Amino acid sequence: MRVQDQLWERGGNAANTSVVLAQLGVKTEFIGTLADSTLSRLMVEDFHKYGVLIDHCIYHNNCKPPMSCIIVNSSSGTRTILHSNRSLPEVMYEDFELLNLNNYTWIHFEGRNVEEVLKMSERVVMHNGQFIESHDRIQISLELEKPGLKPSFCKLLPKADVVFLSKDVAKESGFQNGEECVLKFSKDVKPGAVVVCAWGELGAWAVGPNGEVVHSPAFPPAKIEDTVGAGDTFNAGVIYALSRGSSILEAIMQGCKIAGDKIGHQGFKIDA
Ligand code: ADP
Repeated sequence: MRVQDQLWERGGNAANTSVVLAQLGVKTEFIGTLADSTLSRLMVEDFHKYGVLIDHCIYHNNCKPPMSCIIVNSSSGTRTILHSNRSLPEVMYEDFELLNLNNYTWIHFEGRNVEEVLKMSERVVMHNGQFIESHDRIQISLELEKPGLKPSFCKLLPKADVVFLSKDVAKESGFQNGEECVLKFSKDVKPGAVVVCAWGELGAWAVGPNGEVVHSPAFPPAKIEDTVGAGDTFNAGVIYALSRGSSILEAIMQGCKIAGDKIGHQGFKIDA
């Protein structure tokens, strides 16, 4: 079948979130594994373009980079994603151990490779233990997006200050809407943590330390062009707002607004 258009883009949840944060003016570093290949050079160029630091990325020779082929139906907006990740290793604790944590104020983890991410987050929690003032501590956020990691990811929940749950994870856990999801998961996170669940065109829900559930509507553009990475963009908006002291409601509204802006055009260039 012939298609109307085609486009090559750098991807990856944390990578997308990094690119958006950098455009919001945050000094941002992406730490991930990259295959030493032509496709990875596209990623590197894109990170450079947006000023995302990649000094601690780990390069692997003779690996095929993960790749997705995303078929977007221009009339319905639905996406069919064909993903392959054959051989690229994950970031390991030994890689994370090389970081000087004094250089970071916020660390966002993608909830994958759970045992290793658990060790990484425990290192950050240990590091935070030396500080009395909360503003000296590194904030930890965690995104649980892909279904199928339950129950192992439950170990990660008490480590994070902000937990992002996707609609897919919510549904897998038996919840029919964002409100139910954040309320139930708020029992599994550490006291005082914020739990967020975005739900496509319905916007997003969140709950914080006082137990009050807040909701932001979505802010759809006049025409939806590209919803790929809407959630990653939303996460960046929420992290940005919370890191600047916004309320939880303001933060999810900012996330929805920036995600709404993003889906109105191809790619991750935003009008910051
Ligand atoms: P993803 O599909 O990337 O997982 P989400 O469903 O988590 O994205 O949506 C993240 C945010 O993006 C939503 O809270 C909403 O603000 C915005 N969004 C996503 N899809 C739509 C849509 N079809 N219409 C309006 N806003 C949307």
